[in-house]
Amino acid sequence: MKTLVWVEHDGGVLKDATLAVVTAASQLGEVDAVVAGKGVDAVAAAAARIGGIVKVYVADDDSYDHQLPENVAPLIVALMADHDAFLAPATSAGKNIAPRVAALLDVMQISDILSVEAEDIFTRPTYAGNAIATVRSKDAKKVITVRGTAFEKAPDEGGNGTIAAVAGAAASPGLSRFVGAEIVKSARPELTSAKVIVSGGRALKDAATFEKVIFPLADKLGAAVGASRAAVDAGYVPNDYQVGQTGKIVAPEVYLAIGISGAIQHLAGMKDSKTIIAINKDEDAPIFQVADIGLVGDLFTIVPELEAAL
Ligand code: FAD
Repeated sequence: MKTLVWVEHDGGVLKDATLAVVTAASQLGEVDAVVAGKGVDAVAAAAARIGGIVKVYVADDDSYDHQLPENVAPLIVALMADHDAFLAPATSAGKNIAPRVAALLDVMQISDILSVEAEDIFTRPTYAGNAIATVRSKDAKKVITVRGTAFEKAPDEGGNGTIAAVAGAAASPGLSRFVGAEIVKSARPELTSAKVIVSGGRALKDAATFEKVIFPLADKLGAAVGASRAAVDAGYVPNDYQVGQTGKIVAPEVYLAIGISGAIQHLAGMKDSKTIIAINKDEDAPIFQVADIGLVGDLFTIVPELEAAL
């Protein structure tokens, strides 16, 4: 089987999410990759160094600047003439592109896979991760999104893939245009690749209190900051901090859940973390059912004490 992996990047740097996708693809067969963008030589070179990559197709063109999915999908469809499976990370970018590719190929997408059982059999979460479905696809061409936390990352060095320039499949179909991007700049690690995450919930009261209590602890630990949906909806932090079923899926070494009850939709995004530490004043809070270490008490006392002790 020949697979094609979507290389996620920000125009200059290859995103880590790609590495887990390469591992998933390598369980299906030979792995090629596609880099689309404008001025993406460095990304293509980084992709060629990933262990296991055979060939990197590079489409460097104005129409792929900002990787508008409407423009990128026809390019991938053209490359799929020589490939049996297309795999993308189940990130916002991957989830924007893969369904369009599936629709253009007239196949069903296999979403958010957790494992490859056979060339045509995969597992994937359903009911917010409460059940794992084993699915078989009879489509000749597979379009797959991969849950990054379920696969080891392929090595980002040591590979020796060849790089091949490809012409754009088509000029911009004119369905969308790039207007602007507001990127949150933070010195903290990115949520989905952080080793330690400090997350706060509704109990943090407001944006100023969240910042005062959670940020210093996160900074001492070199951690990323996450939040429950209740905290995001109440405006304590921007919504790209949200962890859970409708937020980001994370699996860090250590996840601190502070003033978070542990609703099923929150657990769906963090229960695969290696060590879960919960601080909650309610000893019956469901978060304690998944926590490895639980502290029952008032977060406004415990967190400053913890931070001072570090
Ligand atoms: P609460 O449930 O209100 O919990 C607050 C906790 O803080 C309580 O356990 C309380 O005991 C504790 N507490 C209060 N004061 C203190 C104190 N001083 N010290 C210590 N502890 C204290 N939620 C997500 O998080 N992510 C999602 O992606 C998500 N997706 C959803 C999708 C759908 C379709 C739906 C219906 C819901 C979704 N939710 C999601 C919402 C989810 O159901 C919960 O409402 C939400 O997670 C609750 O957030 P919370 O734990 O911060 O707030």
